Amino acid sequence: MTEPARPPVSRPAERTTFLPFSRPTIGDAEIAEVVDSMRSGWITTGPKVERFTNEFAAYVGARHASAVSSATAGLHLALLAHGIGAGDEVITSPLTFVATLNVIELVGATPVLADIDRHTLQIRVDHVARRIGPRTRAIIPVHFVGQPVDLDPLLELARAHDLVLIEDAAHAAGTEYKGRRIGSFPTTSVFSFHPNKNITTGEGGMVVSHDEDVVSRVTLLKFHGLSRDAWKRFDRAGSPRYDVAIPGFKYNMMDMQAALGIHQLPQLDAFIEARRRLAERYQAAFRGLDALLLPEPVPYPSRHAWHLYTPLLDLDALTIDRDAFMAELKARNIGVGLHYTAAHEFSYYRDRYGWRPDDFPDAHFVSDRILSLPLYPSLTRADQDDVIAAVRDIAQRSAR
Ligand SMILES: *Cc1c(COP(=O)(O)O)cnc(C)c1O
Repeated sequence: MTEPARPPVSRPAERTTFLPFSRPTIGDAEIAEVVDSMRSGWITTGPKVERFTNEFAAYVGARHASAVSSATAGLHLALLAHGIGAGDEVITSPLTFVATLNVIELVGATPVLADIDRHTLQIRVDHVARRIGPRTRAIIPVHFVGQPVDLDPLLELARAHDLVLIEDAAHAAGTEYKGRRIGSFPTTSVFSFHPNKNITTGEGGMVVSHDEDVVSRVTLLKFHGLSRDAWKRFDRAGSPRYDVAIPGFKYNMMDMQAALGIHQLPQLDAFIEARRRLAERYQAAFRGLDALLLPEPVPYPSRHAWHLYTPLLDLDALTIDRDAFMAELKARNIGVGLHYTAAHEFSYYRDRYGWRPDDFPDAHFVSDRILSLPLYPSLTRADQDDVIAAVRDIAQRSAR
């Protein structure tokens, strides 16, 4: 028996080492600053957190800011600080990290979903408008993968219906909408410094707001509800006495974390530029490949922070599904991410709200097809060439 004839395919040279899909860029300055914190005897919340908070607020153009232990903690406190709780509805996107929905549940409110646009991956403002009802109190749009949502009509909706606008800006440090940085709008915004994000503090987040009262409440709630500047009570000038205004959480950022942030922030623009160049190289390499639907720009002026490079697989052109495609990449030593499975498809949310996949058809479409390819400033062109060759090879072997 002879094998059926196969078209000749170019097999890429196998990578011998695994290429991660994400990697933080940590330099000597960050390492020295962390060591300085450890040697100083002051590890937890202190002057470095204050400095990082002020410098981050200045960078994004925010009036008020409070550093927290994660963006999840920040979103949780932002909802509480805005007084959102039982009986309230909060509109958000199904295409997000599930933390966005979890915190809505955790404050006792109800998440209401508005579908995304399958091309730009951003929440659709017309769908948000349709979901506004008598119990709606807030909207949490997500600046997905570093492009901004269309903020102007969302600000208009919030104004018209007296709603709170909390931006999930976990992907959006350095993102601009119509020439202004995310963080500078008359809203509350929450940024993430998880190691996968554009700048990192290990774990960490920042709540910024135009509303001083909101940030004061976040600051109170993030540290047990103790009266302000609790860390100063260990100073010579500070008093060791404190009052508890309200039972709070333990969501403060440490100086060891801020030590990283202080030296990451000045590199953010260069990091984004490096990500942009790599993303454009992917776009050029993949244009014309039937297997991929390439990321599309939003139709308004913006600066993309390129947090992730997320093409969709065109399943009509392939004999394998997304999960198999990801397994093929891993078999070739290429790391890959999944951002995200649409939140309405997780069992808790499915069971609690009876959501079916097609209730949000574009989010469902994207959820089945999206994958994140390696993208970070230290990714070399040779590494990226390996990714491109692997994607092309799998696409060719699995072409329908
Ligand atoms: C990462 C992320 C979060 C949570 O950030 P953490 O700092 O890890 O808590 C929230 N929303 C989105 C969209 C994210 O990507």
